[in-house]
Amino acid sequence: MMFEDLVNQLWEGAKMPIGFLMRPDKRIFWPYLISSFVMAYLLFLSKAKDTNFKSLFTKELWLGNSARVDYLFIFFNSWVKIFLIGPFLIYGSKLAFYTNEYLLEQFGYCPFNLSTGTTIAFYTLALFLVGDFASFFVHYLMHRIPFLWAFHKTHHSATSLNPITQYRIHPVELLINNAKGILIFGLVTGLFDYLSDSQLQKFTVFGNVSIFGFLFLLFGANLRHSPVRLTYPHFLERWIISPFQHQIHHSEDLKHHNKNMGSKLAIWDRWFDTLVRSKGIRALKFGIGPESNTFYRSFLGNLWQPFVDAIKSLLPTKKKAVPPLKRPNTH
Ligand SMILES: [Zn+2]
Ligand SMILES: [Zn+2]
Repeated sequence: MMFEDLVNQLWEGAKMPIGFLMRPDKRIFWPYLISSFVMAYLLFLSKAKDTNFKSLFTKELWLGNSARVDYLFIFFNSWVKIFLIGPFLIYGSKLAFYTNEYLLEQFGYCPFNLSTGTTIAFYTLALFLVGDFASFFVHYLMHRIPFLWAFHKTHHSATSLNPITQYRIHPVELLINNAKGILIFGLVTGLFDYLSDSQLQKFTVFGNVSIFGFLFLLFGANLRHSPVRLTYPHFLERWIISPFQHQIHHSEDLKHHNKNMGSKLAIWDRWFDTLVRSKGIRALKFGIGPESNTFYRSFLGNLWQPFVDAIKSLLPTKKKAVPPLKRPNTH
């Protein structure tokens, strides 16, 4: 029986990435892929310079070495999700329950109860803002702390970007990201349960995507990991990270290192002085420089080497084995 369960779960994991194509809460849900492609095509038709549209049709982008590593990660991480993350997802709801209980105990019943509509509106907004900031901050720490950078390097070792590259994440980073998600969901949901006299618990039809997430996914989120140069107007890139701004984040050029760490909003990068806008930046080379051609060329190297580099980063050596990306003074 145990063996049968294991086989079933392994099979579920193997099917999971294909299932992503049918799930509206996933970035590679097929209509989002199509809308991203349409946006890239419209950009190409607009005769904007250097759109890089034709790079979408190169063999290297979809079947090259970097892409193959991406594909192995999306499958491998599905098993990580099933075996190591799935059992803990329930802690989001538990944390929400205890947060609500704690607030009740500390402050008694909330003196004002938000109406249903207000609750939904503010809860959605709060989850989006707090979640986006948390994503930025965890990402920021991954670039600043050598121990964490060792694991985040797996995502940056991609030398070509296609929509599956977003799943090229080391399992340790995946665990950290999910722990962050559970924590934010639990705390924010618990707070709004308290403020609305547990009205949130009555709503099960939230789905997993807020209106903000939906718009983000619909309007070209898949072009973030692509060669297509989709920029936003200069003023807008101070507020929202454009796909090209995320590509700058993947640039191996030193002056782009540790820049644009935001997920959706650009305001956090502005706050931490790490924002770079697209204007004046043309062709980019992706990767982590010469290291992209060492252990980080292969799936197993990307899986194993981060542990070695992370441990090395803790050892007191004169020369750090894994230097954090240098933050230049100018950009
Ligand atoms: Zn990064
Ligand atoms: Zn990325």
